[in-house]
Amino acid sequence: MTELLLQVNDLKKHFPISGGVFGRTVGEVKAVDGLSFYVKKGETLGIVGESGCGKSTTGRLLLRLLEPTEGSVIFEDKDVTELSKSDMRKLRREMQMIFQDPFASLNPRHTVERILEEPLIVHGIGTKEERKKRVREMLEVVGLSSYHAKRYPHQFSGGQRQRIGIARALMTNPKLIIADEPVSALDVSIQSQVLNLLEDLQKEFELTYIFIAHDLSVVRHISDRVGVMYLGRLIELADSEELYSKPLHPYTKALLQAVPVPDPDFVREEIEIHGEIPSPSNPPKGCAFHTRCNECMEICKTTRPDFKEVEPGHYVACHLYNEGEQHL
Ligand code: SF4
Repeated sequence: MTELLLQVNDLKKHFPISGGVFGRTVGEVKAVDGLSFYVKKGETLGIVGESGCGKSTTGRLLLRLLEPTEGSVIFEDKDVTELSKSDMRKLRREMQMIFQDPFASLNPRHTVERILEEPLIVHGIGTKEERKKRVREMLEVVGLSSYHAKRYPHQFSGGQRQRIGIARALMTNPKLIIADEPVSALDVSIQSQVLNLLEDLQKEFELTYIFIAHDLSVVRHISDRVGVMYLGRLIELADSEELYSKPLHPYTKALLQAVPVPDPDFVREEIEIHGEIPSPSNPPKGCAFHTRCNECMEICKTTRPDFKEVEPGHYVACHLYNEGEQHL
């Protein structure tokens, strides 16, 4: 098996809900509730789910921008959750994030040069001259020009700003990039340009990506494997080809109906999901999807299905599939 870069074990993030006159804790939101997965060196793992499923919280937990409630995140041979603040700061050089809204994540009062130079200053990399040279190089790498260095974020289009966000993430030469909905805020015509850029950069710099998105069509071409999240848990994970051609979980099947298929003769099974996603502060008992599932059985209302490998590399949490015993 290809070398692993990241191994996540039973990761949880529960946010307390306070209430009453004394602000006591009256409950908790289980934003992430027991995630386990791995990421191989050089691959792209797509993570998909509706808003509120915990996918963005997961991205932040992996970089420890949020403190996990439980679980471990092993990056190479280090447990991210146990590092001191200063060791974590050093490790962030290797793990970077690209955000959904490049405008909100770029300081409007700073020039692009200053924005891109900052990660190098934080990590004490290079002399002033070397840093400026790297800024200019990275601008070219992401399809901008060195003369853009003196401009401010508001002087760029949405697509160009996301290129600046990507350049900033690459400044420290990271191994892992977590891209949190990096194209959702962009026009459809620009989305494919940015996705192509990310693919080219992956080959050029041997990057590993975790690509978070809210719909399956965006991650299809860029991902080697795709995991689907529902209410803080993974409910299906498989190789990209396999997931799109042979989805198993009723929720994945329903999400796939929104994904266009180029073949006009292809007839897709009609599956409806009814109702809204339940609140993560009060998730349904048993299978969390049972309140919306057309195939719900009695067992689904009381017993949570395990996340099982039902075919090589294909994991699913659903009582419809009881073959295979190997757990992730
Ligand atoms: Fe539907 Fe039951 Fe499978 Fe949950 S476990 S997805 S309710 S069939």
